[in-house]
Amino acid sequence: MNEFALIERLRGGAGGSRQDDSVVLGIGDDAALISVAAGSALAVCTDTLVAGRHFPADFTATDIGFRALAVNLSDLAAMGARPRWYQLALTLPEADAVWLDGFAAGLALLADRYSLVLTGGDLTAGPLSVTVTLMGEVMADRSLTRAGAKPGDRIFVSGALGGPARALAARAGARVPEPACETRFRRPLPRVELGLALAGVDVRLASAAIDISDGLLQDLTHICRASDVGMRLDLRRLPLPSVQNTDLDAAQMAALTGGDDYELAFTVPAAHVSSVLALADACCTGLSEIGEVIERRSPEIVVVDDNGTPLQIQGSGFQHFI
Ligand code: ADP
Ligand code: MG
Repeated sequence: MNEFALIERLRGGAGGSRQDDSVVLGIGDDAALISVAAGSALAVCTDTLVAGRHFPADFTATDIGFRALAVNLSDLAAMGARPRWYQLALTLPEADAVWLDGFAAGLALLADRYSLVLTGGDLTAGPLSVTVTLMGEVMADRSLTRAGAKPGDRIFVSGALGGPARALAARAGARVPEPACETRFRRPLPRVELGLALAGVDVRLASAAIDISDGLLQDLTHICRASDVGMRLDLRRLPLPSVQNTDLDAAQMAALTGGDDYELAFTVPAAHVSSVLALADACCTGLSEIGEVIERRSPEIVVVDDNGTPLQIQGSGFQHFI
């Protein structure tokens, strides 16, 4: 199969033929031409997946395609943007039609769900690597950024945290991962509808937002720095995956520091808390209030136990201050 046949296969399988008035010119020329609705800003993000680094060797072509779009959709969700178009830069060790069709099917699972148009990309030979650039639209004054959290705002997260980290730990220890954790690891479901709802219909409901890819604490620290605030988190309020035989400490630690969650963490002014809680059903995800934004402090985030006693979090565990 030559390069053009490969591109044709992707065009057909991954949303490159979808009719959309916004796409003035799609795949086939030197660049795509896209028109963005008046009053909207173009939201753009890029993520690269490298074999062996961003996904394990047992991921299928479909898992990889799904993940390549999912991680980018999660970034746009955190901005409150509506995903619309994507570019795909693909480096392949060989022109394998079966692999490519499986990969396109993984992309299509999400491209079809959100009516994304594949507008172009690039194809090279080399070690397997997938780069997706996802573009979307957001009303400029409605976008969610990391700046904007204020002391007194409540801190929320979607879904449950720590499942993918537990799946990874099980894999590293040659144990069978719990199914719920493995599913979330293999097929992260980006919170697109929630991001859009938080950007709001008439008024923005969240004051700041981020998607959790590197672990809750690390990602919330980005909001703290961008917003010049501190945070207090309640350990017992962290939403944990419902798995059997759970060591509570390990599950809480995974929720705080594990990566690959692709949930949204966001801050909400008190006036909007009830509107946000009402979103959970429509957005098909649990929402948990896990703490409060406070004045800037050092370190930025304090995690407290049931008694309000601060915990010291370390790389491999946490302990009470003595
Ligand atoms: P050029 O040499 O001018 O960069 P290419 O031959 O690389 O053009 O690409 C031809 C067309 O195919 C372009 O419109 C490009 O965006 C599209 N294309 C190339 N690779 C991919 C891909 N992996 N997925 C989708 N479209 C692609
Ligand atoms: Mg090119």
